[in-house]
Amino acid sequence: MSQNIEKHEFQSEAKQVLELMINSVYSNPDIFLRELISNASDALDKLRIESLSNTDLSDLVKDGEIRIEADKDSKTLTVSDNGIGMEREDLVSYLGTIARSGTKEFVKAMQEAASSKNGDLIGQFGVGFYSSFIAADKVTVETKKAGSDKSWIWESEGDGTYTISEGSRESNGTTITLHIKEMDKDNEASKDYLSEWTLRGIIKQYSDFVTYPIYLEDKSKEKKEDVKDEPVNSMKALWTRPENEVSEDEYKEFYRHLTHDWEDPMDRISYKAEGSSEFRALLYIPSRPPVDLFFQEGKHGVQLYIRRVFIMSDCRELIPEYLRFIKGVVDSEDLSLNISREILQQDRQTAMIKSSITRKVLDALKKMKADRPDEYKKFWQIFGMVLKEGIISDTKNREQIMKLCLLDSSKGEKTTLEEYVSRMADGQKNIYYITGGPVKNLEISPKIEGLKKKNIEVLLLGDAVDEIWVNHARKFNEYDFVSVSQEDIALPEGSEFENAEGKEELEKTGFISKLKESLANIVEDVKISTRLVDSPACFVQKGEPISPQMRNFFRSMGQDVPEEKKVLEVNPSHPLIKKIASETEKGNADVAEWANVLMGLAAICEGEPVEDGKKFTRLITKLLDK
Ligand code: ADP
Repeated sequence: MSQNIEKHEFQSEAKQVLELMINSVYSNPDIFLRELISNASDALDKLRIESLSNTDLSDLVKDGEIRIEADKDSKTLTVSDNGIGMEREDLVSYLGTIARSGTKEFVKAMQEAASSKNGDLIGQFGVGFYSSFIAADKVTVETKKAGSDKSWIWESEGDGTYTISEGSRESNGTTITLHIKEMDKDNEASKDYLSEWTLRGIIKQYSDFVTYPIYLEDKSKEKKEDVKDEPVNSMKALWTRPENEVSEDEYKEFYRHLTHDWEDPMDRISYKAEGSSEFRALLYIPSRPPVDLFFQEGKHGVQLYIRRVFIMSDCRELIPEYLRFIKGVVDSEDLSLNISREILQQDRQTAMIKSSITRKVLDALKKMKADRPDEYKKFWQIFGMVLKEGIISDTKNREQIMKLCLLDSSKGEKTTLEEYVSRMADGQKNIYYITGGPVKNLEISPKIEGLKKKNIEVLLLGDAVDEIWVNHARKFNEYDFVSVSQEDIALPEGSEFENAEGKEELEKTGFISKLKESLANIVEDVKISTRLVDSPACFVQKGEPISPQMRNFFRSMGQDVPEEKKVLEVNPSHPLIKKIASETEKGNADVAEWANVLMGLAAICEGEPVEDGKKFTRLITKLLDK
């Protein structure tokens, strides 16, 4: 064996975390055991899932258990499971690197906490497997992947390197051996992790709800006789206990166990459905986004249990795509234990569960928005973009999701659609919006100058998904969504744009018809604008407005997009326009050049690139020179 020991270096972030683990005064060192038990429980879940598609493994699933052995003689603590186990590659990629989400921010937060000696803060974090080094100065992992014929030993002293060699383990699963450090006399929180009493307390506190039995055994010589066969944990699923008997801390511990998130969740939803479909759900809204929130293959957060038996994680059939950030457990009384993904997809029960938990989550969000608006704002900042997808895909709950939206507005503050409606002008029948770019561009867009002047509020819809949902929804209550990028916008009676100052003079100069000639093949039309106030020119669209961003998006998806019918509007009261028009009338101006300049200015005002930047710059320089 020993001739084949390979030495590896930890990936740099893993190294940093290790150093922090080893050197920081950890306010809550106990959490290492919770993390190892959590991993063991996950490994047992994974074996179960794997066995659904690989029947060779089904014999291995039967008696999943977690065994903890303390040996005072060798000063070791072992945590073993008979779960999925790891291959050699898994050891390198899982234990040699940190793959968890938000590692960078995590390392930063940890370092800050460590340097400010804010032990409490550090204590909030869970760092998975690495937390072993809080209690141990050497960690040995022996593991065998279910179905594989080789086993492996991983070993490290947390010094920046680890070794991997072949092992001799016969059954699938993982045994983690911690060589326990001497007790730290200066740290009050330091405990004897080889004492059965201590271990029992930690397991009870953090892992009572783990659904596999956790056995604790004292292997020290003097204790040899006293073998206990009772699991330490009650295995009582948290969601089956009455809500008033479970403490908030227990709920939070369970969330950590479920998600490996080190931050507390933002909200919790407990629900018990009775009647035609009987199930319980314990769901959480995280307070930070997972890295894979916008990945197509990103994980969903809901686990399915059937009558307390774990069936699968990442159960997409139970929660709509637009609520993929919700974490938690659904435990059904009615589904059959040997259900498969295929059956789930067509199952009526599943569809009912999905629809009722969707409603519950939306209700919880509504409540958060009403009762804790500041927290809801934070939620919206993180998950709003995902939730908005629901307006497109979930026609049944569309109204309710629209009411949950916090949208940017030309009036400054974020607004809900209901608030927008309450501020509408007398006789206003439409909800005006602008899309196609970041909010900071939209709010200064020339297109909305006239509306702002008339005190008509415009929604600034800056997310890519916005343009799609407004087009799907079409209406909110009885009010139509109207894009201000359209050539003609219906305005409330009495608020119509008047003919702008300078219109008649401009018409007389013949400048507009010359512009039109010059841009004949480039724009659909050139018009004297009634909506512009401060800007010389802008583009609007004939027909259905589609923003340039959306056009690019559809094209990149290989879809046909109708030709853009751009109209150039010019502002007759703008000094620049007045000047060019009069120079044109006198025969002193080159209309083709000015046409190009105006096109460029219109594009720039909207945050769009100028079509031919080089030519544009040359023209501007030349004109300035004059
Ligand atoms: P996390 O559990 O948050 O992913 P960890 O550092 O605790 O992070 O573990 C990293 C990975 O190592 C796990 O995701 C899992 O794939 C693997 N792992 C850890 N412990 C075990 C175990 N007991 N059995 C099988 N795989 C494990």
